[in-house]
Amino acid sequence: MDFAVSDKLKTILGLIDEFVDRELIPLEPEFLNHEFHEMLPALAEKRELVKQMELWAPNFPQEQGGLGLDMVDHALISEALGRSPLGHYVFGCQAPDAGNVEILHMYGTDEQKERWLGPLVRGEIRSCFAMTEVDMPGSNPTMLETTAVEDGDDWVINGHKWYTTGADGSAFTIVMAVTNPDAPAHLAASQIIVPTDNPGFNLVRNIPVMGHEGSDYASHGEVLFQSCRVPRANLLGGRGAGFAIAQDRLGPGRIHHCMRWIGICNRAFDLLCQRASTRKIAPDGRTLASKQIVQQWVADSAAEIQAARLMVLHAAWAIDQVGQKAARDEVSMIKFVVANTMNRVIDRALQVHGGLGMTDDTILAFLYRHERAARIYDGADEVHQVSLAKRILKRYAPEAADG
Ligand SMILES: Cc1cc2nc3c(=O)[nH]c(=O)nc-3n(C[C@H](O)[C@H](O)[C@H](O)COP(=O)(O)OP(=O)(O)OC[C@H]3O[C@@H](n4cnc5c(N)ncnc54)[C@H](O)[C@@H]3O)c2cc1C
Repeated sequence: MDFAVSDKLKTILGLIDEFVDRELIPLEPEFLNHEFHEMLPALAEKRELVKQMELWAPNFPQEQGGLGLDMVDHALISEALGRSPLGHYVFGCQAPDAGNVEILHMYGTDEQKERWLGPLVRGEIRSCFAMTEVDMPGSNPTMLETTAVEDGDDWVINGHKWYTTGADGSAFTIVMAVTNPDAPAHLAASQIIVPTDNPGFNLVRNIPVMGHEGSDYASHGEVLFQSCRVPRANLLGGRGAGFAIAQDRLGPGRIHHCMRWIGICNRAFDLLCQRASTRKIAPDGRTLASKQIVQQWVADSAAEIQAARLMVLHAAWAIDQVGQKAARDEVSMIKFVVANTMNRVIDRALQVHGGLGMTDDTILAFLYRHERAARIYDGADEVHQVSLAKRILKRYAPEAADG
């Protein structure tokens, strides 16, 4: 393994760090106290600056205007951007658009690329991904009720989705729907592009999540597809290829999320240490940093972040070396390890801030609310733990872990 960072990437990371400190962190008080859609003009200005710096959409292939980096380089950029919740959005590489770009790039027809991929990569439109359903377990996505039935030259889609992140304000969604009900479960579904102004696409509401419905990109939609008719040409990839495409999307997506979470850990850890070093808790001027329990939080957090970070970089390196299928143990491990590390570090940082930590005067309460979901989306902790354990145990006795 060689995690050495090239001179080019060092320069890019330096520029991103500086940009996050100078342009994005000062915007956060506004972000915490306003709806996301109110911030769009200010964020558009920042996006323009990023484009002028030629750092826009760093995760995309060079032919798409990105930087054409490998997975380890992506991971390090995601870490740098993750220090602010605005980072990925302002640099044009936010989920779920980044994943949609990847699959449109891999599977889109020329027509789909021209109509959807180009404007998406340029940041002119946003998109969303509708897989999870209200009445079915997202943890077992082969159990889908949403159907797409052929009728003449069209697909007619019916189904009830939710947690379609960023549906509010998106130009299109990619929906997972059963097209081959008689095929084996993993070949039953397809992905279909649906413009959000299409009749039959109904955004029911932005779901209140941890007390906040949000708006625009910072929201999670409940979506009803009611006899939603789109041309057959909107099928993405092959008929029945929905799960294969979803798998292609998830491996790199988890690396991006996990390194973004390491960026969040770094931010929370800085706040923890700054507060501990300055908050006086005794008349003689001693600060919280003088308390052994706080020292233990500092030491544990530093070690846990370092361990999690190296695990993600190793998983990214493994994907670069052997591909994401062969690296799936590494990817499963980082998903639950990093999500839990991040939640612990945020919790400790918030605790050190006392009552201040509960307010929106720092970013910590937002991170505490928002990042709890990391243990649920893209595979809940337990799903990754069970499947990892089964793969390991199978190496000892093939049937032992069935059930
Ligand atoms: C903030 C956020 C954003 C999201 N964005 C999107 C999006 O853009 N598009 C989209 O399609 N979906 C999205 N999701 C949905 C997410 O992918 C699902 O919530 C997730 O897959 C879990 O599915 P579920 O909610 O139906 O829970 P269920 O499948 O009902 O599982 C509930 C719990 O059961 C346990 N469990 C489940 N299976 C097992 C198992 N095999 N072994 C042991 N325990 C198990 C886990 O603890 C799990 O948390 C998002 C979710 C959140 C919270």
